[in-house]
Amino acid sequence: MRAPRHTLAAALLGAVLAWSSSAWSPTPTAAQGRVHTVRAGDTLLRIARRYHVSVADLRRANRLRGENVRVGARLQIPRGDGAWRQARARRYAVRPGDTLARIARRFRTTVEDLRAANRLRGEGIRVGDSLYVPRPGQSGAQLRASLRQGNPVRPPDEPLELAEGVEATAERRASELQLGPTHVGQRLLREAPEPSWVEAARAEAPPEGTLQLPVDEGRYLRGWGSGQDGYHLAVDIGAPMGTDVHAAERGLVAYAGHGIRGYGNLVILVHANGWITGYAHNRVNLVIPGQVVERGALIARVGQSGFARGPHLHFILAFDGEHCDPTPLFTPRIQRANGEEVDEPVVVWDTDHRPSGIRCLARSARPHPHYHGGRRRRR
Ligand SMILES: [Zn+2]
Repeated sequence: MRAPRHTLAAALLGAVLAWSSSAWSPTPTAAQGRVHTVRAGDTLLRIARRYHVSVADLRRANRLRGENVRVGARLQIPRGDGAWRQARARRYAVRPGDTLARIARRFRTTVEDLRAANRLRGEGIRVGDSLYVPRPGQSGAQLRASLRQGNPVRPPDEPLELAEGVEATAERRASELQLGPTHVGQRLLREAPEPSWVEAARAEAPPEGTLQLPVDEGRYLRGWGSGQDGYHLAVDIGAPMGTDVHAAERGLVAYAGHGIRGYGNLVILVHANGWITGYAHNRVNLVIPGQVVERGALIARVGQSGFARGPHLHFILAFDGEHCDPTPLFTPRIQRANGEEVDEPVVVWDTDHRPSGIRCLARSARPHPHYHGGRRRRR
């Protein structure tokens, strides 16, 4: 077991570590779940991040006020925060004699909320229809919003362990370069990165112009441009749940979170040649914004968070705001489920100009069906 010590941390961030604190008191009822013993250098943010929970929930579970935690204090780690907690939407099959008003009464909701939850106009329900039913206190719009998040993303059991010094350096870089917020991730799925981000990803040696296959022995499930109207501008790589996900090239972690709809746990790297790579549906992200990771570094584990039917990596390659087919760049070559290599010519992209063998499209040119209408379109 490693026991990382975050010695630089508090001073660098100004996140204060108090050596004696009256604010901390354990919650006697929070019996189940994990316990973290506060170490020198720990901050609430770091402890929360380590266990994939929010600072607010960490505070609440331990009745903490302010920023102060005492070294040696034992903190209860809550099971998950509001962003993770996501009960399955309740469904109801329409029976003979049902009306929206009756169903609404039975489930203590309103006709308006039922309509909004199911995008209904008028009375149009038929026997056997399966309706989403808001929970008491939940509006129809809130239910729709929760559906759009895809599969529940739960706080993983695996704590985020960062090597000594890495965390503080990453935090400082993320704050300087303003990396990490959800809007940064959203922006990188549409636009070229900031020059300062590309600069921060640079190393002495230029990038190789290829991509390391991000999942060893991962299998090619579906490719770029597949799916209805070719909306899928990424490659799906199948692998068992929990398989290591590696950085396809050295890069700067610009985003690592679960705030972007549909992608579940997502990591986005910016590379020295202006490429962006994205790694979606992870069971757990193992890097933080501001970190620079080497080609082949462990950054996540394969999962099925977000819109994913089974465990796989949804791998994105983007350049200059367009999403490109990474398949010809993979080394080693990616294999299909039957073990055959995918039959595409190998390409090296070693200049700023995209080789003709690499196909790219703006994401908006092939909108994902989930982004306009949702999975269950009703008339
Ligand atoms: Zn995919």
